[in-house]
Amino acid sequence: MNTERVAELVKEMLVEFGEDPAREGLLRTPMRVAKAMEFLTSGYRSDLGGIVNQAVFQSEANNMILLREVEVYSLCEHHMLPFFGKCHIGYIARKQVLGVSKLARIVDHYARRLQIQERLTAEVAHEIMRTVDAEGVGVVMECQHLCMMMRGVEKQNSVMVTSSVLGSFHDDAATRTEFLSLIHREPARG
Ligand code: ZN
Repeated sequence: MNTERVAELVKEMLVEFGEDPAREGLLRTPMRVAKAMEFLTSGYRSDLGGIVNQAVFQSEANNMILLREVEVYSLCEHHMLPFFGKCHIGYIARKQVLGVSKLARIVDHYARRLQIQERLTAEVAHEIMRTVDAEGVGVVMECQHLCMMMRGVEKQNSVMVTSSVLGSFHDDAATRTEFLSLIHREPARG
């Protein structure tokens, strides 16, 4: 990404907004925005294969692996405003499992770009399915969208829930029910 060029465009936007890009508080804003956007869209440029493939481990276990409450921060592709929330991931391994932190890296890889929540959910599910050749995968995402909240189009506290279920999570009702009951169970108190 050409950060200098993006900063120049942000400066032009400031003028269109009615701002003075030369006033002290805004002097470094175009470059700050450009660098923030570079990070928030880094999923277009990150090498997921390199990150994830080294963290695939052999395992004989074929029980359900669950990771709850993974933080999600993304940008809606319609308004380029944030949507954010949490994601719950479950899968049943065949012979391979994935390091837990890599599940979060997969979420970031697809979240750090312009997205819609439905596609983000499906892309995370398909990526896990493909990476470990899972028997089944389930992903549930619960996000709030600033384009709805700030513009007052919808209820302020509405949460959008999307899900993607593949393989045995799709075909087997008992597996799907187990997944859904596990992600909504109260956390154990330590
Ligand atoms: Zn939007």
